[in-house]
Amino acid sequence: MRILILGGTGEARRLAERLVVQGHAVTSSLAGRTTAPRLPSGDVRIGGFGGGEGLAAALHAGGFAMLVDATHPFAARISANAVMASARAGVPLVRLERPRWPRPEGADWIAVDDLAGAAAILPPGATALLTIGRQEVGTFFGRTDCRFVARMIEIPPGLPGDWTAISDAGPFDLEGETALMEMHGITHLVSKNSGGGQTAAKLEAAARLGIPTLMVRRPVLPPARTVARIEDVLALVAESG
Ligand code: NAP
Repeated sequence: MRILILGGTGEARRLAERLVVQGHAVTSSLAGRTTAPRLPSGDVRIGGFGGGEGLAAALHAGGFAMLVDATHPFAARISANAVMASARAGVPLVRLERPRWPRPEGADWIAVDDLAGAAAILPPGATALLTIGRQEVGTFFGRTDCRFVARMIEIPPGLPGDWTAISDAGPFDLEGETALMEMHGITHLVSKNSGGGQTAAKLEAAARLGIPTLMVRRPVLPPARTVARIEDVLALVAESG
């Protein structure tokens, strides 16, 4: 079967590998945000489609029989485009979405709707560990009364000079996360509720250290057939094949 995977996540990469091994013709699509992405098995295309209509046209042109949205839960625009394009092109869509992180026992979680909400409620003098990627760190630039330690895969240019930037990618473990928070005197953790096991240790570390977590709720996506595991996608492909 010809399958288009909207990717940019570890799950998307692992799914592509499994489908290629099964003999499917897989194309993975990446947005092109990272300069040296880890490329999945199968064909890869990079860059936007030009909205839902462009994606629908690409589904037609490529003769795809299934569209899998395996993008990050906070990549809301492409997920909405996928719903629109699937309907327009008549190509079935399945969304692979990791479950949200539950609040660890005893954790002090403050849920916020977006990063601006997190930036607004940090108390003056806070030392915040930002684990939110690089695209939206600018939201915190105005909080010159706080200290920031920002961990991300690629450090963008233009970070304020007094910020500490750490270039690192998961998986992270509890011991390392605890040491990082202690070493930098972290008073607040800022995170999106991305879910998944690779970066979950920070939540437990913060809970154990009594550090409050400002947790950004997931964006609301238009309804789509949604599964949580790679195996569920493989089962759907097997059914439709
Ligand atoms: P977004 O806001 O939902 O998408 C913005 C635009 O980027 C889309 O309209 C689309 O352009 C293009 N795009 C996004 N994902 C694409 C893909 N897989 N293939 C081709 N075009 C894509 O997305 P975002 O939050 O910037 O995320 C971009 C990518 O980074 C996604 O693939 C996502 O899985 C990955 N990622 C995001 C986060 C996060 O926190 N947002 C974290 C980790 C990884 P057109 O409209 O022109 O098609």
